[in-house]
Amino acid sequence: MTHPALESILALARALISRASITPADAGCQDLVGERLAAHGFELEPMPFGKVSNLWATHGDGSPVMVFAGHTDIVPPGPREAWHGDPFTPLIRGGRLFGRGAADMKGGLAAMVEAACSFVRAHPEHPGTLAFLVTSDEEGTARDGTRRVVETLLERGLSPAYCLLGEPSSATRAGDEIRIGRRGSLSGRITVTGTQGHVAYPDRADNALHRLLAVLADLLAMHRPEGDPAFPPLAFQVANLEAGTGAANVIPGRATAQFNFRYPPPLDPGLLRCRVETICARHAPRYTLTWDEGGRPFLSPPGALRAALRAAIKATTGAYPRLSTGGGTSDGRFIAPTGAEIIELGPVRDSIHQANEWVSLHDLALLGRLYTDLLERLLGTTTPPG
Ligand SMILES: [Zn+2]
Repeated sequence: MTHPALESILALARALISRASITPADAGCQDLVGERLAAHGFELEPMPFGKVSNLWATHGDGSPVMVFAGHTDIVPPGPREAWHGDPFTPLIRGGRLFGRGAADMKGGLAAMVEAACSFVRAHPEHPGTLAFLVTSDEEGTARDGTRRVVETLLERGLSPAYCLLGEPSSATRAGDEIRIGRRGSLSGRITVTGTQGHVAYPDRADNALHRLLAVLADLLAMHRPEGDPAFPPLAFQVANLEAGTGAANVIPGRATAQFNFRYPPPLDPGLLRCRVETICARHAPRYTLTWDEGGRPFLSPPGALRAALRAAIKATTGAYPRLSTGGGTSDGRFIAPTGAEIIELGPVRDSIHQANEWVSLHDLALLGRLYTDLLERLLGTTTPPG
């Protein structure tokens, strides 16, 4: 069994970074990925929805279906002065590849593609299906990306058994930490209405900001119910606050706050919304609340994918990975309802969404090796694991 060469992973990663695919643009990245896969016998099926490019690619047929999932879109680079060089001109320095998307997640995507190519070269007749689900809508609204592709696959009666996302999961070296679940995310916006007036005549006004501050104080002091011990506890953050006219002598008649919950299972958005409503009603006779549900929590149960990946990591690095459920949301939330076992393994996450984003060359080579070993263990034998 040969592992992909670092040179081939690097060549694809650099070509992907050179394309400024700011979400939801794909900027030709999926053509590059598709060319590489097609040259190794994968069948390509582009699945565009609206402005979003998605690629579904398969090799082999039948079960089990093992999916490598990822995204080609990136977050904007931010102020150029913060970068040592152009964010879209890949630069190798000190054993690292720099550029927007290097870690999140063009590096991981390149390693997955090259690992899959190595694997099908060695096992052209492997059992089951090896698939890629690549979207350009992970960093944005995530409406027309993975979610829509999964809906389409389910309509066809196709449900993946295993899914590996190459998102940046690692702490200090690729494979030291893998993600087996993610917290849920719920954002809300409270607007409290009072009566505007002169600060010298508070009896003729009703300070909306004072009421809102009382609401927020109660939310911050709210009892944190126990969640699944595999997850970090419920977290609450106020993100934005707006009130006042800018003048020092006017009592604000309106005040707005935006906030977010990150919650573990078995908590659910209904319970959180109910608690917030109760607190709002206690302090503000006139308020409106709007909600934006970012994603439900999921926890992938232990199974053949986890066992194979842990064994591959132990064999290559000498240590088993830590199992984590931290971090933000990922497209795993859209794949979880299919019942697939889902794990995230990718490069070190230190620099994601920052200026001078990087991935280490060592991690790229190591990921290529780990992904190939994983495929060898899952689909490399004539009898696929149950
Ligand atoms: Zn990502």
